[in-house]
Parts: sequence; C-alpha cells; structure tokens
Amino acid sequence: MQPYDVVIVGGAMIGASVAWHLSQRGDFSGRVLVVERDPGFEFASSSHTNSCMRQQFSTEVNIRISQYCADFIRNFRDHMRDHEGPKIHVHPFGYLYLAADAAAAEHLRQAQALQARLGAGTRLLDARQIAQRWPFLVLDDVVLGSFNDRDEGYFDGATMADWWRRQAKRAGVETITDEVVALEYSDAQIQALQLKSGARIACGALVNAAGPRAAQLAAMAGIDLPVEPRKRYTYVFQAEKPLPCDLPLTVDPSGIHVRTDGRNYMVGAAPEDDGPVAPDDFAFDHGLWERRVWPALAARIPAFERIRVLNEWVGHYAYNRIDQNAVIGPHPELGNLFFANGFSGHGFQQAPAVGRALAELICTGGFETLDLSDLGFARLLEGRALKEAAII
Ligand SMILES: Cc1cc2nc3c(=O)[nH]c(=O)nc-3n(C[C@H](O)[C@H](O)[C@H](O)COP(=O)(O)OP(=O)(O)OC[C@H]3O[C@@H](n4cnc5c(N)ncnc54)[C@H](O)[C@@H]3O)c2cc1C
Repeated sequence: MQPYDVVIVGGAMIGASVAWHLSQRGDFSGRVLVVERDPGFEFASSSHTNSCMRQQFSTEVNIRISQYCADFIRNFRDHMRDHEGPKIHVHPFGYLYLAADAAAAEHLRQAQALQARLGAGTRLLDARQIAQRWPFLVLDDVVLGSFNDRDEGYFDGATMADWWRRQAKRAGVETITDEVVALEYSDAQIQALQLKSGARIACGALVNAAGPRAAQLAAMAGIDLPVEPRKRYTYVFQAEKPLPCDLPLTVDPSGIHVRTDGRNYMVGAAPEDDGPVAPDDFAFDHGLWERRVWPALAARIPAFERIRVLNEWVGHYAYNRIDQNAVIGPHPELGNLFFANGFSGHGFQQAPAVGRALAELICTGGFETLDLSDLGFARLLEGRALKEAAII
C-alpha cells in the first residue's frame, strides 16, 4: 500500500478525535489512515462506557482536560465549524463523592480547594446538608461529601465520536478494517506496520489509540506499556418507587457508583478480584450483583431494595497500573510513536483535549494549547506516578 503520513491504530473515541483534529489543521495536509479491527466497536471500551464527565479530579491537568471537554460540548457546533450538526445532549445531575473516614474527607477538602481555584463549582457538604438535599440516602458512616453539578454528569459522547468520524472522512481521512499485527522499527523510528490481511504500510508517524489492547501494540515495538484490560460491570435498573429527584453520580465508599439514567438508574462496580484479563475475555460474573453490588446499593439507598435489572454488561478499562492516568505523547526513543492510552475510567471525557493535543504534537512537536506533559511517557520510565485521588 502507499505510505501514509500518520496511521492511527484504533478508530473508537480517542482514534476518532485524533483523526478529526488532525484533519482540521491548516498546517497539515498529510495522508491519514485509521486502522480498526472491530468496525462495529463491539468490544471497544467506548461502547461499554458510562459516558460521564466531571470536574472533580485532584490533579490540575485532569481538571483542565475536563474543562475543555465541557467547553467542547457546550460549543460543539462552533468547534466542529458545522452549524447544522447535532447538539450534544447533557444531563447535568452532578457527582457526589462520599467520604467515610478522615483520610478520605481530607482528600475531598484538598481536591475541592484545587477545583475551586481552577473555577469548578464543587462544594463540600456535611452529612446534615447531604441529608437535606437527598433524604433517601443512609449517611450513618459519612463524614463529608463533595458535590458539583456544573459541567458534571452524562454527555452523549457517542454522537460526538460519530461526528468526528464523519467529518474526518469528508476531509480525506481513510479508514480500513484490519488489525495491526507487527511493527517495523529502526533508526529510532517506526518505519512500517504489518496488517493481518498481509498488507504492509509505511508511515511517518503512528498513533497508539488501541484502548485496552494498547500494550500489545506497544510490545510490537519492544516497548513495555503498563496498561492492561480490567473488567468493569454496569447494571441499569428500574426502581419500584423512583426517587423524588435526580440521583447524582454518587461515588460510594463501598466502591460502587450509582446515578440517574433517564427514568432508570445505572450502577457500576469492579469485580472483587480486580486484575488484568485477556483482551477478549468478556465473561460475565452473574454472582457479582447479589454478592457485592445490590447489598451496597440497598444499604446506601433502602428504596433500592425493590428494583429490577433491565440491562447489564461488562467492559474493559484500559487500566494504567502505575497511576490510572493517561499516557499522552511520543515515546522518548521511538519519537514518531505517539501514545494516547491508559485512560482507565476517564477517557471518554478526555477525548477532545487528547485529540487536540496529539494533533499539535504531530504537527508542531509541542503542545500549543493545554500542556499535557505531566501525562508524558517519561514519567513511567522515571517512576514518577501522577497520583490522582479521585479515581473511579
Ligand atoms: C464500564 C466503563 C465505564 C466507563 N465510564 C466512563 C465515564 O463515565 N467517563 C469517561 O470519561 N470514561 C469512562 N470510561 C472510559 C472510557 O470509556 C475509555 O477511556 C474510552 O472509551 C477509551 O477510548 P479508546 O478509543 O482509547 O479505546 P477503545 O474504545 O477501546 O478503542 C480502541 C480501539 O482500538 C482497536 N484496536 C485495538 N488494537 C488494534 C489493532 N492491533 N489493530 C487495529 N485496531 C485495534 C479496537 O478494536 C478498538 O475499537 C468507562 C469505561 C468502561 C469500560
């Protein structure tokens, strides 16, 4: 096949964002190819997501990334330069973090101070204030909460990705259904990739947007990327007696999180034996609901003792085992291999800022807008974890 200037491996949320951002730059006229092994995205994290955004992070870089997501959603048509495009639906029910001990409360206080400094609307609430607003919550163990409903809640990221793909295609980005199975590299550069179909493609730059399979792709270039697939369960349920108001995405100290989902509710949980799984392992643990999820749910909200599960699925986080944060930017030695990986549970909302950042790096060699160097690969080599306290 003809060479491409940029090949993006993975065409889901992150790959679509990188492709669209590249295609919109006036200083870039190269050929872009997206290689996607699963064109219906049946197994992609992006199809199993809970699709929420929040400002309640504990690191400045993650807060600023989410602020850009909120801006991108609010001004979607302007960003897309398409005034006939869709509006992105948002349901701003907010996030409510609950702390059940002094250490967790201190994390909330520190995070709130940072968020407030950066302009987020997060407020600290004591148990009495929480009970006043959400009287159906059992709060015996709760010492503090933090809540924000400005730019926090559900957003329709799937439509955003569809629009990115549609416009990228119009701008000349090509997509093929195939799987990258090997990389050729020499002289500190990725030279070419080999596809399962037998094709070989030379490339000027390669973007790893392979989600939970990112480490497999990195290993093809001899690179150890500490990102692994980990299972996360989601259940959508109907309550016999719905709550009198929206339930914010409530991050419970037990490890579950639950929120309003239209007229129903959605709860998410990790398995008890949380660890790496094979990228094609989507076996569903049918006992997890009874053992772990429902008891925690009904203990916090007794009204949820009488509920009916309508839908359930298991998806994979691309879990960064060093610090559960994204890895963004070029490899220090193979300089034309760019990472956009390891998003763990917050990659959907990071897609606008990450796509923009990757396009900047590829075209100019640096960040032009938001500096994401805190998320660079170098921190993994230097053992500098970017600790984010607000991980879900
Ligand atoms: C249950 C769950 C809930 C979540 N909730 C939220 C949330 O509320 N908010 C939030 O911000 N984030 C959330 N996330 C995280 C978010 O969904 C992900 O971070 C995001 O979707 C990652 O997108 P991606 O494009 O990097 O990966 P993916 O969507 O996994 O896409 C990677 C693509 O690469 C392709 N690919 C892989 N290897 C190859 C190869 N060798 N050749 C060709 N193609 C390849 C795959 O087929 C896949 O389509 C959640 C995730 C899960 C699992």
